[in-house]
Amino acid sequence: MNATWTDTDRGTDVLDAPSATEAGTATKNPKAERDAAQRVAYEINKLEKRLCRQVGQAIIDFNMIEEGDRVMVCVSGGKDSYGLLDILLKLQKRAPINFEVIAVNLDQKQPGFPAHILPEYLSKLGIEYHIETQDTYSIVKKVVAEGKTMCSLCSRLRRGILYRVADELKITKIALGHHRDDMLATFFLNMFFGGKLKGMPPKLVSDDGGHMVIRPLANVAEKDLIRWAAHREFPIIPCSLCGSQENLQRQLIGQMLRDWEKQYPGRTETMFTALQNVVPSHLMDVNRYDFKGLKITGVEDADGDKVFDPEEFPLPRVAGLPLVQI
Ligand code: SF4
Repeated sequence: MNATWTDTDRGTDVLDAPSATEAGTATKNPKAERDAAQRVAYEINKLEKRLCRQVGQAIIDFNMIEEGDRVMVCVSGGKDSYGLLDILLKLQKRAPINFEVIAVNLDQKQPGFPAHILPEYLSKLGIEYHIETQDTYSIVKKVVAEGKTMCSLCSRLRRGILYRVADELKITKIALGHHRDDMLATFFLNMFFGGKLKGMPPKLVSDDGGHMVIRPLANVAEKDLIRWAAHREFPIIPCSLCGSQENLQRQLIGQMLRDWEKQYPGRTETMFTALQNVVPSHLMDVNRYDFKGLKITGVEDADGDKVFDPEEFPLPRVAGLPLVQI
């Protein structure tokens, strides 16, 4: 596939005028204001390039989007799905293949859901979109006991509806806005509470076997999506309208990951790299590696186990402390 998916030399169409907030124009000094604005423009330009490169790379690495695809972007009104739609539309202009982007929102009739925001936003973009209205909120409220988390049933209902809509719209790929930090959190949730080494795949066949689901933000850090959403001033719809709390375990894992990153800068990136470097011969799953049938080969292997030597790792960086290698 052509490298233009990840072409980072393109100029930006939106970044020439950073917002007043970003430029920090509180100062009265015109030169300082100009410098601050330039700095912000530079940083935002870098951010846009990084987002496009990371999404483009995921698309290439996992062959997410192919010629003629009709990609349904599930837009919830949150920062991640807005970001996904935004970046995919940018890439669509420069991609070496033709594909269509169709934004789909499911209005679940949560109390106070501002139903006008997404149609207005999507109409302004001038892209194909579809708003599906289904009152799953009432169903979930009726079925789930007061005080219990509603998310599991709610997402199951949502999934079924979105699969049906995808069929009706002749969609070939369903794109979700999960990012790198979601994927890592899922990995730890599965390990801590499910006893499995299992993450969140960047590409998968849906549970009904009928749809290809992709996560083009797989390489993207959540903090970058937060900055991008602020810069682009997406009309965010709060996700707490249903009154349900985010799963407690997920909250705890999220906090653990943030604490680690604060204490050991770069750890998130290292863990994410690890998800892409699995060594089944050094785990204990007999279904992934034939331990029983293992034979002496007599052939030297530089990557083989040193047996008696402990593995060596570089010292971790600790926030606030200089790294001294002895
Ligand atoms: S937070 Fe609310 S809308 Fe989101 S999955 Fe849970 S119940 Fe559904």
